[in-house]
Amino acid sequence: MPELKQNLKLDFSKAPKDPEGKAHFEHWCMAEGCHCWGDFGLAGPKGKGRIYLCAAHRAQWLTELEEQKQKERAERAHLAGKDEPEQGGLF
Ligand SMILES: [Zn+2]
Repeated sequence: MPELKQNLKLDFSKAPKDPEGKAHFEHWCMAEGCHCWGDFGLAGPKGKGRIYLCAAHRAQWLTELEEQKQKERAERAHLAGKDEPEQGGLF
């Protein structure tokens, strides 16, 4: 079981090299400091292509992604609320 840090950091130096056209290539878990095999291929951050993570880091990645989405939703809702025209304005 790899050690889980507070915030998952990806180490793109561990990204698979030239996986195009190969059925099998090495893809290690790309979490910083993790030495496990990257069992799971996931969509990475924008523009970064695919990322590979072990089971533990995949779970963490998905959890943090969901938390991030919820935070953004909350912020959007907050902003939308602010932009709401005041009730009882002139028409
Ligand atoms: Zn890992």
